Amino acid sequence: MTLRSERRYPLRTCVQCGSGSFKESFLRIAGRPETGWEPDPDGRKPGRGIYLCRKTECVDGFVRRIRSPKGAARWKMGSAGAALADRVASWWSQEAKS
Ligand SMILES: [Zn+2]
Repeated sequence: MTLRSERRYPLRTCVQCGSGSFKESFLRIAGRPETGWEPDPDGRKPGRGIYLCRKTECVDGFVRRIRSPKGAARWKMGSAGAALADRVASWWSQEAKS
């Protein structure tokens, strides 16, 4: 039963490199197109999730992507994409230090 195993082992896919892994190994960005998005490193916030590897190449690539209106349109972020890019970049600079 696929559904049952997905619930026990929630697999997610990185939006940048497409590699799949367990939910806990990704940075989650939570939100909805209507309410905006925010970094959710603990994976507890409601809403949909965007998943990224905790790797510089994927985080940087995503940040660059959503700074452009075309990239941000993928998640209907609009002009909020640039602000989210700043938040994700500053989160990552803290995370990379620790
Ligand atoms: Zn990745």
